Amino acid sequence: MPDPQPAATVPCAIGSPLNPAQARANELLRSPGDARPSFGAALADRVRAHLEDVVAPAAAALEAAAAKPMYIGKYALGSVHGCEARHLALEGQPFQLSAPVVAGTVAHRAIQYSQHWDRPPVPADLVDGALERLVAEQDRNGLWFATASSTERAEVRGAAVDRVTKFLECFPPLRRSWLPVLESPLRAELGGGRIVLSGRVDLVLGRTVGLVAGKAFIDFKTGSRFPGHVDDLRFYALLETLRLGVPPFRLASYYLDQGDIVSEDVSEAVLEAAAARAADGVVKVVELRLAEREPTRRAGPSCRRCPLVDGCDEARRDPDATDDDEDGPRRAVP
Ligand code: SF4
Repeated sequence: MPDPQPAATVPCAIGSPLNPAQARANELLRSPGDARPSFGAALADRVRAHLEDVVAPAAAALEAAAAKPMYIGKYALGSVHGCEARHLALEGQPFQLSAPVVAGTVAHRAIQYSQHWDRPPVPADLVDGALERLVAEQDRNGLWFATASSTERAEVRGAAVDRVTKFLECFPPLRRSWLPVLESPLRAELGGGRIVLSGRVDLVLGRTVGLVAGKAFIDFKTGSRFPGHVDDLRFYALLETLRLGVPPFRLASYYLDQGDIVSEDVSEAVLEAAAARAADGVVKVVELRLAEREPTRRAGPSCRRCPLVDGCDEARRDPDATDDDEDGPRRAVP
């Protein structure tokens, strides 16, 4: 890997002045000096009891069908609450890698490296380092990249460098004392392990002390705001509550292209809404997977990327079906 060129280094050394975007992120995500909220000791048990109650018939149906444990994440919940027919159609399709998808993975890895790099971080070096490791590990993204065309490889590098650069520009340098964790996995089992809820938070800052919430959960996005982004973060807060007994105090979507943050403070009402949505989604996913009923159709912006759009009467009747896709490129880095 080439030596870093000082002129291309993103200025993010700890102790250097924050630019306005970094200062805004620092204020919103950390709120230094503000008191943190406490949550009741019985909160997690109450939320879990509600979830278990609602999903019990679904878990029983999975057991009766001798089905494998069902993993459900934010994408499944988002799609099943949209159009069920599309959800089912996409579920049956093999996942396909592409330059934008690989760029997202590479950028995630590169940003992780940026937090432990032993030199001033240069985005292109971080991206090259991430690509080298992904290829060496025979990761599916690395294998795709190794056999991609020069054009595709250039697209991956360009998009990943852009995202890493924006992250380093927009965020205050992550101090160790903030306990930053990138790509933090979360998981909760329901129905005796037959249903597994899982997710991965892009960035976690802070820590929980006793019953006092002290964490901020941050997801990074490219593209425009979309209401489902709030639901994704609430789902993570739910998983954290089930795991630890205390939720994060704040949830934030960071829109890198705009340097814009949308945040929400977590309350019991927020968690109850998240639990109700997750439980309802689990029931729907299981019913559809086990073919217990026909899927409903709901036309909207997501029709644009639906494999069933040709010949779908609902899509033809809805003018929104040709608007921008709500499932467009929405998840970015890290
Ligand atoms: S085209 Fe639209 S309404 Fe029809 S199945 Fe697809 S998402 Fe649903």
